[in-house]
Amino acid sequence: MVLATNLGFPRIGLKRELKSALEAYWSGKQPIENLLHTAKDLRARHWRLQKDAGIDHIPSNDFSLYDHVLDTILLTGAIPAAYGTKADLHAYFAMARGHQIACCGHAHTKSDQSSDVPALEMTKWYDTNYHYIVPVFEADQNFRLAATKPVDEFLEAKALGIVTRPVLLGPVSFLTLGKRRDHGAALDLLPRLLPVYVELLEKLGAAGAEWVQIDEPVLVLDADPATQEALRQAYATLSRVAKRPKIMLASYFGSLCPNASVGFNLPVEALHIDLARAPEQLDDALAAIGNKTILSLGLIDGRNIWRADLDKALTAAQKAVKALGNDRVWVGPSCSLLFSPIDLAGETKLDDELKSWLAFAVQKLGEVGTIAKALRGEKGDTDKALVEARAAQATRRASKRIHNPAVRSRIKALTPKDAERGKAYTERRVEQAKRLDLPGLPTTTIGSFPQTADVRVARADWRKGAMSDAAYQSFLEEQTRQAIKWQEEIGLDVLVHGEFERNDMVEYFGEQLQGFAFTSNGWVQSYGSRCVKPPVIFGDVTRKAPMTVGWTRFAQSLTSQPVKGMLTGPVTILQWSFVRDDQPRATTCREIALAIRDEVVDLESAGIAIIQIDEPAIREGLPLVKSARGDYLNWAVECFRLSSSGVRDETQIHTHMCYSEFNDIIDAISKMDADVISIETARSAMELLDAFVSFKYPNEIGPGVYDIHSPRVPSVEEMKNLIQSAAKLLPVGHLWVNPDCGLKTRAWPETKSALVNMVQAARELRAQFKLATGKAKLKESKAA
Ligand code: GLN
Ligand code: ZN
Repeated sequence: MVLATNLGFPRIGLKRELKSALEAYWSGKQPIENLLHTAKDLRARHWRLQKDAGIDHIPSNDFSLYDHVLDTILLTGAIPAAYGTKADLHAYFAMARGHQIACCGHAHTKSDQSSDVPALEMTKWYDTNYHYIVPVFEADQNFRLAATKPVDEFLEAKALGIVTRPVLLGPVSFLTLGKRRDHGAALDLLPRLLPVYVELLEKLGAAGAEWVQIDEPVLVLDADPATQEALRQAYATLSRVAKRPKIMLASYFGSLCPNASVGFNLPVEALHIDLARAPEQLDDALAAIGNKTILSLGLIDGRNIWRADLDKALTAAQKAVKALGNDRVWVGPSCSLLFSPIDLAGETKLDDELKSWLAFAVQKLGEVGTIAKALRGEKGDTDKALVEARAAQATRRASKRIHNPAVRSRIKALTPKDAERGKAYTERRVEQAKRLDLPGLPTTTIGSFPQTADVRVARADWRKGAMSDAAYQSFLEEQTRQAIKWQEEIGLDVLVHGEFERNDMVEYFGEQLQGFAFTSNGWVQSYGSRCVKPPVIFGDVTRKAPMTVGWTRFAQSLTSQPVKGMLTGPVTILQWSFVRDDQPRATTCREIALAIRDEVVDLESAGIAIIQIDEPAIREGLPLVKSARGDYLNWAVECFRLSSSGVRDETQIHTHMCYSEFNDIIDAISKMDADVISIETARSAMELLDAFVSFKYPNEIGPGVYDIHSPRVPSVEEMKNLIQSAAKLLPVGHLWVNPDCGLKTRAWPETKSALVNMVQAARELRAQFKLATGKAKLKESKAA
């Protein structure tokens, strides 16, 4: 019989109960018991809900108080010495937390330096926006089964009458997600780690688990002989465990085909493949899978919010049933539903038509149930569900809200010239210097100033209707006025308006663009208790009206210094949204790029001489497999250029990226051809500039001279040292002086002190390097 299966459920709770409970515990407002109680309630609620949806294999141990990789660190006793030897919640949260970094509400790779015991580093889970805690192993790492969470949660569900399938992070993926302190190969530790998994499988078997799900997303990465050998070794060992549960090995986020030779032949009882991401692998799987292995079909997209085309899913499933028989086919979501919001029923503001096109975790489980029932020939309301799904597909396809012929023809008419500035950078540099007349080592900031409690309260009041439009407007004007006045006083060269009117760098733009919708409760875990509520891009994107011109023009009217226009770039807007699945991502990105381009051109017409287009997410979009990266980088760069190329040569385009790994994409970064790029470098003491040096980055660059993630105020000397080390690597005439990122999460006192020091550092070095002003820089350019 075809079974319905699920790989994992969101943990945070429909009302973000886990978030509240965690934060109440961390702040000391609630004892640990309350947190554990909430966690238990959530697990029970989610198990029952899956049962009601008709799911036959319900996962357990997919729940986590913070992160499932961190759970595995604790489980296997891989706790670094700094956190003690006890595998308890104290060590757990010590590894997870520390000073939390949030420069823009979205998480970036972080390592913490400001608390007594620093948190472990955090980074993105494959190509998702979920962040995991990075394990750190010693060369002689000892592993032990240090906790019993998978067994406990299995028994907890069993006590509720639900026999679950515990989920484990596979040993090979676990090791490759971590790093060794001595930089040795983490996979060499496999023989030390495997006994822990052996013991755990024995324990799960003894507790009565019939199945266990072992996740090995490494299966979809580029083929690597060491990883493949590790997979062979691991599953040979695990399959030999006596009295173990049957193993379902789960691959997701891509095609298993790069590792087909091992993947399809491992000695496991079931194999899961992601058919939402890689539908083409079904044929390979059917041909290659062992003659007893069950094939679990990941038919429902766990990474997006669209209602599925059930007919298409059914066709694929029927093909599998024909090839393998009823007993060897399962149907489920492509991956864990962790990446999807919980329940569409929580959306009260979305209109019915739009809602009929969407499916969140609960609805996705319903779809899985429907497919399973249809395959089993169960009538009931299956037919009705199929008819409804079909109707939703049809109205969506035909909807006028989605298709905008003007956008279509504009995209069609694009030529390569549209993605090119007028002149080459070296010539633009001369014209910009003439117009701007900036000193050498010009100082600026990245855009936002502190979003103080006052600012947040005013926005909340205004949204509630408790503050009038006029009062809110004049409140923001006053904030902006003060910010401009203060920047002038301390002598910054290029000013910003402060972004007081913005909540989030994507939401602010999405709310003003056609083709975007916003959920009221569509939260998705980003890391720990942090959640994001990505906008939904459902239709062709256009700009209804200028979005930032008013505020930028207002700020510019207050000063004779240049004020930078501040925009979020197309790739970042795409990357931090749920994107439509009925056209290529590249097409949607081009549409956004054109909307931003219109804004850039309008800013220029309003007299703005410098426009910054932030692209902090460009690296995040990089596909997992190398063969797909070139294509992505091509369209991502093209989109940035489309957004930035509508202006005259004398208008200076900046971009900003707040991450640090540039080595493998530096070529693409330089092709973006921004006149100035600001990047994060302070925390690594400029080490990160290496990529720009060996590559000979041609344009101007502002390596961040202080870390905005900490309230610490760096001294003048410290920043001078950083600028000097940058000046050893890059021509000093090409350097800008700025912080690492926006200042919205900081308070004013430290912001003021740090920027005063920063301006002082730039002034002293200007004198030391005998740097000229913009007009004199011109001569220097001509000489070069
Ligand atoms: N301009 C934005 C700000 O200053 C940039 C944020 C970011 O790059 N993450 O907040
Ligand atoms: Zn940033």
